[in-house]
Amino acid sequence: MDTAHHLLGIEGLATPRIEHLLELARQFQIAPPPRSLAGKRLLLLFYEASTRTRTSFEVAARRLGAETVSVTAGASSIEKGESLLDTVYTLRAMAVDGIVVRHSSSGAPHLVACHVDVPVVNAGDGMHEHPTQALLDAFTILRHRPSIEGLTVAIIGDILHSRVARSNLLLLSRLGAHVRLCGPRTLLPPEFAAFSDRVSLTYDLEEALAGADVVMVLRIQMERMRESFFPSEAEYVARYSVTSERLRAARPDALVMHPGPMIRGVEISADVADSPQSVIREQVENGVLIRMAVLRELLGETA
Ligand code: ASP
Repeated sequence: MDTAHHLLGIEGLATPRIEHLLELARQFQIAPPPRSLAGKRLLLLFYEASTRTRTSFEVAARRLGAETVSVTAGASSIEKGESLLDTVYTLRAMAVDGIVVRHSSSGAPHLVACHVDVPVVNAGDGMHEHPTQALLDAFTILRHRPSIEGLTVAIIGDILHSRVARSNLLLLSRLGAHVRLCGPRTLLPPEFAAFSDRVSLTYDLEEALAGADVVMVLRIQMERMRESFFPSEAEYVARYSVTSERLRAARPDALVMHPGPMIRGVEISADVADSPQSVIREQVENGVLIRMAVLRELLGETA
């Protein structure tokens, strides 16, 4: 499998390619995109629920002139237990030019990539990676700051189950940020420190927020928990909810981010989510630009 023809994760994605994707997104932001993917067909294969990611891939593809075919669990043979590869072989017959995969198993997009000869994009695989989310987050930060180098980014919450945290810590530390991970001990295993020497761990929210330039809040991924990771929601809120009072420990102009879906009143208070510092809605808009860049690079630049 040649990973240069896919987007499977931030790990293994060369820095010049990251910079190229960010630059393409910037160009799409400035000038309306040409319909450079006219005549191409993109398959969106979603085995897990998604609102933002699926619709933003769809909008991105259409803006570039491509057609999309959407297959989601609940509305297809996926529910009847057809294996991932059987589904892919069936859909391959539809002559698609690229496949976007979301799956609850880590590595599923990599498996698909080994069995097809078109580009595959990972739209979130289990607890592993969500590369387009990290790219759109970096892009969002860069719309407000000249560089990521030297920034302190606090990522708060359910780190253990979060593919968003994994992709972001890989990307942001690669681009020169210092990443502080914070959450309850049960959701923040010490091994995470080994990802990079620019990554540090703390179980104390105030310590994580102190002087931070960017505060990235994560959802508690209940669907990935088979046991209890904290005593109660109230206890979690008491120690880790990002409220306006706690946010004062960060830089006064700190950016507040959340990949969505947000649970207001649990990981983040409503006033923080809606504050002028919040770029949460902008993240959604930027998601379309980044996905356009990814599709253009994989489907349009090889010809
Ligand atoms: N939307 C993100 C994901 O699919 C984050 C989340 O679901 O909490 O990973």
